[in-house]
Amino acid sequence: MRQLMWFRTDLRVQDNSALHAAMAAGPTLALYLVSPGQWQAHDDAPAKVDFWLRNLATLARALGRLNVPLLIRRAETWADAPSVVRDLCREFDISSVQVNEEYGINETHRDRQVAERLAADGIVLRSHLDQLFFRPGSVLTQSGSYFQVYSQFRKVCYQRLHIAMPSCLPPPRAQDELGIRSDTPPAMVDGFPTPPESLRQLWPAGEEAALERLDAFALEELWCYEKRRDFPAQPGTSQLSPYLAAGVLSPRQCLHAALRNNQGEFDSGNAGTVCWINELLWREFYKHILVGYPRISRHRPFRQETEALAWRHAPDELEAWQQGRTGVPIVDAAMRQLLASGWMHNRLRMVVAMFLTKNLLIDWREGERWFMRHLIDGDLAANNGGWQWSASTGTDAAPYFRIFNPISQSQKFDPDGRFLRQWLPELAHLDKRDIHNPGSLGGLFGAPGYPPPLVDLSASRERALAAFRNLSERVV
Ligand code: FAD
Repeated sequence: MRQLMWFRTDLRVQDNSALHAAMAAGPTLALYLVSPGQWQAHDDAPAKVDFWLRNLATLARALGRLNVPLLIRRAETWADAPSVVRDLCREFDISSVQVNEEYGINETHRDRQVAERLAADGIVLRSHLDQLFFRPGSVLTQSGSYFQVYSQFRKVCYQRLHIAMPSCLPPPRAQDELGIRSDTPPAMVDGFPTPPESLRQLWPAGEEAALERLDAFALEELWCYEKRRDFPAQPGTSQLSPYLAAGVLSPRQCLHAALRNNQGEFDSGNAGTVCWINELLWREFYKHILVGYPRISRHRPFRQETEALAWRHAPDELEAWQQGRTGVPIVDAAMRQLLASGWMHNRLRMVVAMFLTKNLLIDWREGERWFMRHLIDGDLAANNGGWQWSASTGTDAAPYFRIFNPISQSQKFDPDGRFLRQWLPELAHLDKRDIHNPGSLGGLFGAPGYPPPLVDLSASRERALAAFRNLSERVV
């Protein structure tokens, strides 16, 4: 009974639920679909697509060692997936197709269409829980709805983890040779230019690289994570998000690495470990929200009344924000970090998102799209969750009146200006007092070549408060 393991965002052989099930059920072939039209429609970043392809190349080698041939097919968009998968199943006499669940509306629709097409040929599509600890819909309030408040969601997750800890699967064992040749993964796909080598080197491909990063983080940084995680100049966070987003690493592997460093405890013991596991649960929370409230997948706000917000149309200001030329150093440094590395520190994601949606009063969807087009870890659920949190349109979001002041954030979380100096060489000569706010020095004394602030922070704050207040008056 031949099996087909269809890889998507689960590019690893270890602790892979669907691959494990496939190889246990019979001789297994693997498939990956190259879908540039779909990727464009989803705003997938060139850096992310390149990361997928590089990981696909290492995955092909790992599969080779297991004697699992990897077949690569093109399905321009997912509308083509049902016939492409069905044809391949016919060609190779496949009896079932194994996949790990993916959670957006388009992903769900694709899998349903594929399952129906295969069923007509008597082939089963089996899906497995893999990206998450708990299947969406299995962690609900007493009244049976999805949680909207993270702390309540986490409490139930803790209870579940106390009862049954999800465990990692044993390493896969090689199967007998099938005599089927593997395809060579493409080195690039049209429409997604290869990013500079400097970016690629930050994110080495493959599960070995991911596990090394995880182990080093767990040994060296985890114990003080809660103290260092907010300081972008320090190596305080794991930088594992691209690996988790592409499924090069499983959340179970992350959880167990953390538990090993905390005597098996997740809600007590070392504060750094507990805090990090809570971040894994934020990831979990936003994916559950995506399933529970499908309008999120359609870029609608969670809080529907915020549809009426009077966002500003200000293309020049949007562009200044995108290119790191707002004249607010912490915002500009962060936006340049994104362009150069495909990644941005979490604290700064919140700072730049608040700046765009509050100080510039520009629609959060503009920021969400820009992030998606540049992030190597771009993930619909986490990105949408982060943007809607910052814009105060989301579930359990920042209250609209709690607007970060980017200068105070900069002074607090980059006190010596180390991060600013790294990304803004034109400000490197300023001392640690002036570097956060060169606009206050006046053009002559400040930094020639660096733009003056795009907006007055306090006036623009008042403008945002008024826009949100108007909204709540309309709702009342
Ligand atoms: P660590 O601090 O080491 O955390 C470990 C893991 O937990 C991360 O790798 C990530 O998978 C998960 N995680 C941590 N924080 C969050 C969070 N707030 N929400 C969801 N998951 C979290 N994360 C993405 O993976 N993809 C995105 O597209 C994304 N977009 C964001 C946009 C905005 C506006 C904001 C505010 C946050 C966004 N995040 C996103 C969440 C978070 O910023 C990143 O996950 C984190 O910075 C990744 O760095 P790390 O791997 O070092 O995280």
